[in-house]
Amino acid sequence: MSGEPSVSSAVIRGLEFLDRHAGEWYCTRCWADEVGADARTLHRVSVLMGTDEARLAGYEAKADGACKVHDAKGTRLAGRKGPRSVRGLRKPRS
Ligand SMILES: [Zn+2]
Repeated sequence: MSGEPSVSSAVIRGLEFLDRHAGEWYCTRCWADEVGADARTLHRVSVLMGTDEARLAGYEAKADGACKVHDAKGTRLAGRKGPRSVRGLRKPRS
């Protein structure tokens, strides 16, 4: 009943990160690394982000998507089951 404040703060940090890097795909594993959150927590968020409602709110997620970090390393993410990728759709404020 005490709730899990660390989870919601991880979610907020995650969404802020996507806002700052709008348009770039990250797999949930690298996304968790970038924001210092638990990968399983952000994986659950990525599942929620695969909805039309999330897209309207400015976020998108899909299974087996691209990942900016893995692409930069030349590591292939494709073909591995499990990882999901997320991105923010909002234009960064200028
Ligand atoms: Zn990745």
